[in-house]
This record gives sequence, C-alpha cells and structure tokens, in this order.
Amino acid sequence: MNEWQRTRKRGGWEHHGLLEWVEGDTTNLSVVFTWRLPDAYQKAVWYRTQGRKVRAGGPAVDLHPNYLADVANCSGSYPALRLHNPDACVTTVGCIRKCPFCAVPIIEGDFHELSNIQLRRIVCDNNFLAASQRHFNFVVDGLKAFNDVDFNQGLDHRLLTKYHAERLAELDLKCIRLAWDDTRYERGFMRAFNLLVDAGFPPSVVRAYVLIGWKDTPEDALYRLETIRSLGAWPNPMRFQPLDAMRKNEYVGKHWTDAELKRYMRYWANLRYTSAIPFEEFAYRGQEPEQIDGRQGRLM
Ligand code: SF4
Repeated sequence: MNEWQRTRKRGGWEHHGLLEWVEGDTTNLSVVFTWRLPDAYQKAVWYRTQGRKVRAGGPAVDLHPNYLADVANCSGSYPALRLHNPDACVTTVGCIRKCPFCAVPIIEGDFHELSNIQLRRIVCDNNFLAASQRHFNFVVDGLKAFNDVDFNQGLDHRLLTKYHAERLAELDLKCIRLAWDDTRYERGFMRAFNLLVDAGFPPSVVRAYVLIGWKDTPEDALYRLETIRSLGAWPNPMRFQPLDAMRKNEYVGKHWTDAELKRYMRYWANLRYTSAIPFEEFAYRGQEPEQIDGRQGRLM
C-alpha cells in the first residue's frame, strides 16, 4: 500500500469507486467512476454465473445506463454513500451550475435541499453554498457535534460570503476546500481565499482543487498551482477525465503530453515530499499517484 492508498484508507474512501455488498440472493454494485464500469461488468458476469442476482447503481451507471444493462438490474437508485464511507453524508443534491467537465448536473439535475438529513462529519454536497441560509445554518449547527468536519467536494468560491466563512470557522475543520479550475476565475478565487483567512482559517488549512489537462496549457496550470502554494495553501491537482472515460488517465488535452501530465500530478499531488526539489528540475519516474476524482460524480 503506497502513501496515497494509506491516506485514502485513513479517510475511509478505500473502495476506489467500485463497491459491492450482498443482500440475500442479490449482489449490489455501486460504481462511482466510469473507468470502473468494465470491472463492474466482469464482476456482474461472474456473480450471474454463480446464480446470483445483480443490482447496479451509482453515478457511473446513471451516466451510462446501458453499459451493465444486460448483466445487472440497473433500474432505480439506492443510497450507497454510507457504505462507501461510514462518515459521509449529503444534505443537498445537484448543482446550480453546469460546468462542462462535471457529471453532477447530468446525474443529479437541479439543485435541491434534502429534508431528512442524517449528518456525519464528511459532507459530500456538490455545491453546499448554493443552499439557503436556513439550510446552511441548520447543517453548520448540526456539524458542531463532530470533530474533523470536511466539506469533501469543495466550496464554490463564487458563492462564499463573509457570513459563510465566519460560520464555517465555528466548526472543527482540519482543512477547507475550494477549487480553481480556470485562470479566469483568479479574482474570485482570491476573494474567497481572503474571506477564509479573514475569518480565522490559516492559509495552510486551505486546499484547492486544480483541474489540469483539459483546455488549459501547462503554463496556465502551473500558474494556478504555484499561486496557491505561494499563498501558503495546498493545491490538489485533478487530471481531467472525460465523462465517458472507460480507462482512467487516458485522455490527453491538446496542449499536453501524457508524460507532462504525469509529471505535474506526481509533483503537485505530493508536495510534502517533492517540494524540496524545484518543479522545473523534477522528472517524472514511476507510477502516477491516484487522485480524488470527485468531479465525476456523487457516491449514491
Ligand atoms: S464542478 Fe462544481 S460547480 Fe461545476 S457543475 Fe460540478 S458541482 Fe457544480
């Protein structure tokens, strides 16, 4: 098990986007990422040969409803988030935006708040700050009962207000996540970062997802990564994966090479170990680290 796998295990996300469990004569498969669909298909075939019924769901199945249709019952949906991680919950579904690289608007549709919420310390809402102030306050008040609260999918910097930042500072947050996917959003990202710092968050607890390898250039990606680090915060690079990707890390944006994407991921996803070396001197060798791929979808 490498360091990243240990981190995933400590955080409770150890199923790598494909979870299976048994209920009576049925084996359930929950598929989070599209590149786990081929594995899910093989598992479904195997279970069927053992005489078991197979049921499949999850964001990847919602995105490609026909992929497993001849080997599994894919109708309906079932909540599997708690099985993926017993510390996780959702309080809202959907998103008010339609970022073209993200599956959430396709899978979850219009944004809405949930009423029957069972709060746990990891909140996997895709755009929590789109919630009403009443819902936001209800959730924040409830989360005060937990240590190490994590808004796992990141907070939309365009929606973050001083009020949000000050109320979030009341929680036990070991890290707080933003995203900076496009250089054009620099001013908005910096505004949100400064609101968090003014509310009392040290820069070192701010994490920022950085989408790389899509329409950007290596120079553009490097600007965002280096800027975030120069603030004292931690960038979390996310290699772009198309919504129909059947193999992870196969896509290479037109301004990139596969080797350069791997070099970026290797360096910037492991800064605690790599930062002793200047990035321009860093050469990629060995395996690319695994990454969180939260933008492809939710976990239920
Ligand atoms: S990337 Fe975030 S803001 Fe954009 S559609 Fe997905 S969940 Fe919404």
